[in-house]
Order: sequence, then C-alpha cells, then structure tokens
Amino acid sequence: MTSQETTRWAIVGGGMLGLTLAWRLAQQGRRVTVLEAAPHVGGLASAWSLGDVVWDRHYHVTLLSDSRLRTVLKELDLDDEIDWVETRAGYYADGRLHSISNAIELLRFPALGLLGKLRFGWTIFYTSKIRNWRRLEQIAVGTWLRRWAGRAAFERMWLPLLRSKLGETYRDTSAAFIWTTIQRLYAARRTGLKREMFGYVPGGYARVLERFSERLQEEGVEIRTSSPVTRIAGKDGRVEVASKDGALEEWDHVVVTAAPPLAARLCEGLEETEARQLRAVRYLGIVCASVLLDRPLSGYYVTNLLDEGLPFTGIIEMSALVRPEQLAGMGLVYLPRYVESHDPFFEVPDEEVRERFLEGLFRVYPDVGPENVKAFRISRVRHVMPLPTLYYSENVPDMDTSVPGLHVVSSAQILNGTLNVNETIGLAEDAARRFAEHP
Ligand SMILES: Cc1cc2nc3c(=O)[nH]c(=O)nc-3n(C[C@H](O)[C@H](O)[C@H](O)COP(=O)(O)OP(=O)(O)OC[C@H]3O[C@@H](n4cnc5c(N)ncnc54)[C@H](O)[C@@H]3O)c2cc1C
Repeated sequence: MTSQETTRWAIVGGGMLGLTLAWRLAQQGRRVTVLEAAPHVGGLASAWSLGDVVWDRHYHVTLLSDSRLRTVLKELDLDDEIDWVETRAGYYADGRLHSISNAIELLRFPALGLLGKLRFGWTIFYTSKIRNWRRLEQIAVGTWLRRWAGRAAFERMWLPLLRSKLGETYRDTSAAFIWTTIQRLYAARRTGLKREMFGYVPGGYARVLERFSERLQEEGVEIRTSSPVTRIAGKDGRVEVASKDGALEEWDHVVVTAAPPLAARLCEGLEETEARQLRAVRYLGIVCASVLLDRPLSGYYVTNLLDEGLPFTGIIEMSALVRPEQLAGMGLVYLPRYVESHDPFFEVPDEEVRERFLEGLFRVYPDVGPENVKAFRISRVRHVMPLPTLYYSENVPDMDTSVPGLHVVSSAQILNGTLNVNETIGLAEDAARRFAEHP
C-alpha cells in the first residue's frame, strides 16, 4: 500500500464542491470521507419536496458551455439525457410585462429610449472585450455601468438587473462582477456555438446527486450525512475533528468547503491574520421561495423587475424550461431575494414572507391568485456567494492553512467567474491537483 492510500482525508461539506473533490481525491487513490451536516448531500444544489413535486430547492440550469460540469455529467452517464431548451426573458416595467428575448424585442421595449438601448448594448459589447478583469476590481460596478451606459440605461436596465442578483449590496460590488456575468453569457459563442441554451437533467439535481453518491461509494468514498462538524484543530501533526455528538476523530488531512466565515468559526489554532482574512469575506445570502401553482405561469424563464417596491428581486419560472411531465403539469416558480448574510430579512417569519411574496407575484401576474397556489416553501441560506468587493482578488484566503493538514477550499476562491456549479467543479479539480502533491 502506498502512503497515499493510507492517509485519511475528511471533507467537511457534501455540496457539489465537497463531492467533486472527494471523487477526484479518491481517483488519486486516497481514502476519503465526506462529513455533511444536513441529512442529505447537495448543499445549495439539493432537492426537496414541494407538494407532490420533488425538484431543486434553488433554481438551477446548465449551459451548453458548462464544460467541466458536463464532463462530470458524462462520467455519471447523464450528459446525453440533458434536455436543452431555448428560453425567453420577460421584463416587468411600468406595471406591465414585456418580452425581451431577442434584439428586436429589445428595440421595441417602450421603457427606454433608442439611445439608452444602444448604450445598454454597447456596454455589454465593450465590457465583453476587456481582457484584464483585475483592472475592473478597482471600480464600483454602479460607477462603471453608469459611465458607459449613461443615466437612463443605468437606471432603467442595469440597476434592476444588479439588484436582482445582489440586492442593495451592488453598491459595494466591483465592476469585475458584471465582467464575469457577461463572460458566462458569451461563453457559448466563444466556443463556436451560435446561441446559448439552458439545460437540465430530467429529475433535476435529485437525480444527479443520487447518481453521484452511488458512484462515490463505488469509488470507496464514505459519505456521512447528518454529521455536523463543530470544531477542528491540529493535533500532533494530524487534524482532530469534533462532531455534534461530542465524538472526536483524527485525520491526516481535513478540507473545509463551507464559506470562510463559517470555516473561521470551526477551525482552532489558525494564525490571527488567517482567521481575520476568513472572517472578512463578505457573503451574500438568499431567502428564496418556491411556489407550486396549479398551472404554468408565463413562459418566461426569468422575469426581471424594473418597478420598485416588490419584495423579491426576480421571478424564475422553472416550468418555462422543464417539460410538464417533470412537474406533474404544475407551475414551479422561484421568488429569490438576495440579501447580505446578516440582513434582518432572515428573521421575518414564514407567514409574513409568504404573504408579501405572493402579493408581489399576484401584482406582476394578476391572472393568478391564492386559489392557484398549491404549495409554498421558503429556503433561507446566509452564505451563498462571496461578494466581489473592490480589490477582492488581493484578499482571497489561501487553500492551505498554517495548521498542518488543514485546508479551506470554498466559493470564495472562485476569482474570475460567477457562482455556478461549473466554476465550483473547476475549483474542486484545481484543489485536487494541488493536493496531489501531499503525501
Ligand atoms: C438561488 C440559487 C440559484 C443558483 N442557480 C444556479 C444555476 O442556475 N446554475 C448553476 O450552475 N449554479 C447555480 N447556483 C450555484 C450552485 O448551487 C453552487 O455553485 C454550488 O451548489 C455550490 O456548492 P458548494 O459545495 O461550494 O457549496 P454548498 O452547496 O453551500 O455546500 C456546502 C456544504 O457544507 C455543509 N456544511 C457547512 N457547514 C458544515 C459543518 N459544520 N459540518 C458539516 N457540513 C457543513 C453544508 O450543509 C453544505 O451542504 C445557484 C445557487 C443558488 C443559491
């Protein structure tokens, strides 16, 4: 047996990052155990039941250009099954819904003059041509977009789009955010594909995760769910992990995949500068409602909201993408609200969120009402995405820590990409390559 086969690795967190890392390490011949706090794997990508329907807790699509995710899906024998669909986008402006799914519809859009539309298009084109994204970290995204798009296009188009992804934290976000978003949308064209399409695996992430778990176990990975880790500390060159029931276990290497502020709370014995750096990464969280309707809603996968005063930051209709039989013919709509991880909105009780969100949905879509709502569930996650603040890349925590054998790998290390499963898998694979050098 080589030393690689005898060293024991624990991965804290069974989201797509932890699972991919476990897989790649096991393929290097390591002995790997995944410790996941929830009763199931998948983290942000996990599925849940909504009435009689089982689907993702948060809306997920795959892009044709998501090459790393698609390689994993190929290995899981699922890539061939992806259903690819061209979707439409809606805009809610001045109390009315408009379709803006192509350039002609954008030209017809009444809420912005021709010059504003041209400057909006120009901003996308110009930003897509920039190669040195680090330069954009020095300027706030609002300043950048206002400069190139002008006031009208900024306020009518860009601001609602920024708020839909960042809530009010757009004010502290750098222009690198819009660069990475535009690069993701242009990725299909760069790879020679004429248009972008959205895809999903039939059965959703529930099916992907089930297959992933089976393959991991075949590869020798042990997956322990309902295993929250409460404390991690170095001990005589190894790493000791405490679980909620008080049990202690020693490992040669431990990789924490939770968000850095959570990792800082778990890990003892870090140098003060390291701990401070982990705590300093600001995170955006989400309160996201899933609404099951007795029928599909609108045919728009995304409805962007230009009008003020709605309680959520966008409307995503999964039933505009997914075949009716996948959702028992029902409509599935997500109402996300992105807020910073300490925002008081996390404390608003379910009943009040339900009332305010449904009122907002019925305002945008007056032809639906309470009688159409078959189920409603709320997901609250405080640590979803690191906020790409000014000079972000200069303050990213390293994967290795000063505690021998203790590593922190997380979404905070995705530098020039938006948060998505494709980038997450890329990060896991980079980490696995780096860890290949460890005994
Ligand atoms: C609303 C929303 C929409 C999205 N849409 C898309 C999309 O359309 N396409 C796309 O590709 N991606 C999308 N994503 C992003 C995608 O979900 C993430 O990129 C990916 O799931 C991140 O995986 P992760 O493993 O890094 O993090 P997580 O999924 O957060 O996993 C971390 C895991 O660590 C566990 N954990 C934390 N602390 C402990 C502890 N102390 N002990 C044990 N376990 C612990 C957690 O329970 C969790 O399971 C979306 C995300 C959200 C929230």
